[in-house]
Amino acid sequence: MKLKRTLLASAMASLALLPFASSAMEKADLMITDAMVLTMNQDKTVYESGTVVVKDNKIIAVGDASLEKRYKAEQVLDVDGDIVMPGLINTHTHVSMTVFRSLADDVPDRLHRYIFPLEKKLVSRDMVRIGANLGNVEMVKGGVTTYADMYYFEDEVAKTVDKIGMRAILGETVIKFPVADAANAEEGIKYALNFIEEYKDHPRITPAFAPHAPYTNTTEVLQKISKLSLELDVPVMIHLAESHREVEKIAERSEGLSPVQYMDSIGALNKNLVGAHMILIDDHDIELVKKSDMGVAHNMSANIKSAKGVSPALQMYDENVRIGLGTDGPMSGNTLSTIDEFNQVAKVHKLVNKDRAAMPPIKVIDMATMGAAKALHMEDKIGSLEVGKLADIIVIDTKAPNMVPVYNPYSALVYSANSGNVRHTIVDGKIIMQDRDMLTVNEDKIRQEALDFTKVVRETVIESGEVVQ
Ligand SMILES: [Zn+2]
Repeated sequence: MKLKRTLLASAMASLALLPFASSAMEKADLMITDAMVLTMNQDKTVYESGTVVVKDNKIIAVGDASLEKRYKAEQVLDVDGDIVMPGLINTHTHVSMTVFRSLADDVPDRLHRYIFPLEKKLVSRDMVRIGANLGNVEMVKGGVTTYADMYYFEDEVAKTVDKIGMRAILGETVIKFPVADAANAEEGIKYALNFIEEYKDHPRITPAFAPHAPYTNTTEVLQKISKLSLELDVPVMIHLAESHREVEKIAERSEGLSPVQYMDSIGALNKNLVGAHMILIDDHDIELVKKSDMGVAHNMSANIKSAKGVSPALQMYDENVRIGLGTDGPMSGNTLSTIDEFNQVAKVHKLVNKDRAAMPPIKVIDMATMGAAKALHMEDKIGSLEVGKLADIIVIDTKAPNMVPVYNPYSALVYSANSGNVRHTIVDGKIIMQDRDMLTVNEDKIRQEALDFTKVVRETVIESGEVVQ
């Protein structure tokens, strides 16, 4: 009798609570449940059976499964134990060059002997659009939600980024010789200024300057860009301390300064700068980098493929330099997803340091997320799964044969995963790839357009005697 009464009382109590509980539930747009959440916050908090809640374009809650009782979402993604982590950030690429991928991979002095002549013949608005569409799809399918680009006709790249729904910093190239969209550096600067004016208020696109390198621009041009970038508060992306040719040319110009010292001496090393590669640098250069608060893009696969050397990226990371992973363009690193860099970043730094414990997986993942966000000065918006940040989130399949089992998610991501393991990609709160289907663009059409363009590339390559296959 006593038991019955207790049961009845508790049943009544829960009935009474029901309407109250449901009305008290907070509304959300998207909730990801049953997830192994890698937040990549300051403490590197992991929720083994976690939940991420999104409203509009922001993360409004991250935590354990109890969050499911507090929120009522329009859409629920039950990911069945998969890894949920911040979207990857590719800090350096030339997305449109996908249409040139696998051409003349091992030609010596390739940039000057092959790439610049090839670009002179083939870079156009169409080429930039077709290549960017293809590269965007590759990146989204590889878990990249934000990228930093340096190329020509960046207004065309911007249209593709807007359409697919990614986030990007797009840098219009400035270089001293005639190129497809400018006859000289001054015209390049004008082009960049128009582009910056057009896109400065876009919610997902940050327009920027991209002087190609110190040795392919004059001191005056580099100084002018630096001054304009500070006035307009836009980033400047540049290839820096990348090659011995550059080191020699800059030493000639500056009475023996290194590229980093030279940039500092002309007042062009500042918080708006993102230097790609940074291979040929010493401790003094690193001190200048730290003092300037500039960002660094570390592109391991491109750097070792070109045999240019290994950047002291681990030292920079350990000394709190703003440094993140990049892929470089698809003619250099050949793939655009930073997941495919992870393995090489970990292993080459171990080899160089002759230390198995050097560059552990958690540092690699940090450099692909928060480190990359810091390199681009976007750490207050992206790079980790924390309340208030923009909802750029990826889901990694942990049931694929190459991922089973996952005792340590960081190790699994760095040593086992590949870009094909990305299951869902969410940018700005919107799912843009679900179960590997692109939701905002037509992947087949984009691939076909790229294949059609390869006919033009083949004809040009075969016609040209200077091009080596
Ligand atoms: Zn590059």
